[in-house]
Amino acid sequence: MTQPEMRYFSTRGGSETLSFEDAVLTGLAPNGGLYIPTHIPSLPEDWQTKWASLSFPELSKEILSLFIPTSVIPSTDLKEIINTAYSSFRDPSTTPLRQTGEKEWVMELWHGPTWAFKDVALQFLGELFRYFLERRNGVLEKDGKEEREQLTVVGATSGDTGSAAIYGLRSKPSITIFILYPDGRVSPIQEAQMATVPDENVYCVAVQDSDFDTCQSIVKTLFSDKEFNSAHRLGAINSINWARILAQIVYYFSAYFQLPKEAREQGSRIQFSVPTGNFGDILAGWFAKKLGLPMDHLVVATNENDILERFFRTGRYEAEEVDDIKDQNQDQAPETAAVNGSSDGQQATPSSASSVKATHSPAMDILLSSNFERLLYYLALETNESTGSEEENRAKAQDKLNGWMSELKKNGKVDLGEKVKQAAGNDFWSERVSDDQTLAEIRKYYKLSQYGPYVVDPHTAVGLAATERSQKKAPNSYWITLSTAHPAKFSSAVELALNSEQFPDFNFRSTVLPEELKKLESLEKRVHKVKGEEGVRALIERVKKGEKVVPGEGKGSI
Ligand SMILES: *Cc1c(COP(=O)(O)O)cnc(C)c1O
Repeated sequence: MTQPEMRYFSTRGGSETLSFEDAVLTGLAPNGGLYIPTHIPSLPEDWQTKWASLSFPELSKEILSLFIPTSVIPSTDLKEIINTAYSSFRDPSTTPLRQTGEKEWVMELWHGPTWAFKDVALQFLGELFRYFLERRNGVLEKDGKEEREQLTVVGATSGDTGSAAIYGLRSKPSITIFILYPDGRVSPIQEAQMATVPDENVYCVAVQDSDFDTCQSIVKTLFSDKEFNSAHRLGAINSINWARILAQIVYYFSAYFQLPKEAREQGSRIQFSVPTGNFGDILAGWFAKKLGLPMDHLVVATNENDILERFFRTGRYEAEEVDDIKDQNQDQAPETAAVNGSSDGQQATPSSASSVKATHSPAMDILLSSNFERLLYYLALETNESTGSEEENRAKAQDKLNGWMSELKKNGKVDLGEKVKQAAGNDFWSERVSDDQTLAEIRKYYKLSQYGPYVVDPHTAVGLAATERSQKKAPNSYWITLSTAHPAKFSSAVELALNSEQFPDFNFRSTVLPEELKKLESLEKRVHKVKGEEGVRALIERVKKGEKVVPGEGKGSI
């Protein structure tokens, strides 16, 4: 049976479909929607045997080919893109499973260059951008620079996403990347990871006297400035970019093949627990399930910013008023909103001004989850009466979703009703994990006897706590908790949990901090300190004019 060629359409409507290439380069649809595939492809019948012994890149090639027609990327090119992307991973299995209990495993997603899971998607996306631009520019072209299509990636970060984006785009021809962050407000290790990258096309921009929101709003302003945007062809590597979700589907399959045979034979009892912020990671797991990967439930593990946990429990999607924490010091700005380019400016934001709570797992400190809209579309589709043609059903689901999104924008909340809640419950469970529980979980895994000691980062700890609680719902299951960062990246929570009073033998530097990260301390940092939006604009203009702008210039090098 031949399947129709895969195209992409916006969750918010319009009958227009885009090629994979256009969907990736566009990021967010002009109507504010997110791109999703025109259909869920079917797996080859014998995938369970045929794919069983494939390497991660080989597996990736098989799965990605289902969503990327060869007319968009020929097979040999796709293979090369994937091989290059994952050659930077330190572990031979790319995303290895580590056993932590009799029927429990942790999947370590942080063996890429920046020691956090966003590398899995951003290493691939960076290669993809390079490939599309090189092809547009013609590999053999000899024309002047003006003729070439250039991409200027501008993003804001409070730490982690910035480094993953920089490592994904460093040294890529025709791409320049500017990462903005609040001067003095990111952790030393995060700044070192960004600022020690020596490549000419990388600009670390420390915005003076700012916070994360200021940086984010500068980025939004630049994207919505039509003249500036088209002059420099701004590109965003949003967490809502379809290619990022796609790349992440692969490791769910990889996990399945790494499980022992007896677990695979009981596929209906495999459960995944996923530390969740913007709903990208776990949405990829949902697509894996829809493709036909045997699994039972996906556990949405949130920290105290629990909008998603509340949705799965109540059917209501609402940002809560959190007055009591409004005044808290928020030097850990919401990581998930980082490197978002124009996207968040057009995402629905609640009219009541709530704020994000700063937790020990800052990469999941969110108000609204941008990728959640994709699931909402499918829930709208599933709970509609499907009477019409495929196109009619799609249009009906888009209408329903639009209704929900405008209600959310207007009132800061939307009640999706019992039917939708139940449909969501078929695939998802959810758990909210407090800061105290997060620290307790870190301690618990450090004290594991048979399978430990194992030091986990606070995000992974949230996932593990959610696993533990969900086990009551499904005894005799096989549990895989996704580990999204190496503990060295979130040292403050780890050191707080494993403090020297209670754990005199624990030494962060000697047991947790990898040599590669220690080395960063001695490398030269290249930071461009600027003031405000004008400073950022001026820097980008000068660089794009071909001026050589020296890091630290005029402001004292760091
Ligand atoms: C981004 C991130 C998450 C959240 O992933 P989403 O795809 O946004 O749900 C969790 N942990 C870490 C360490 C992250 O960087």
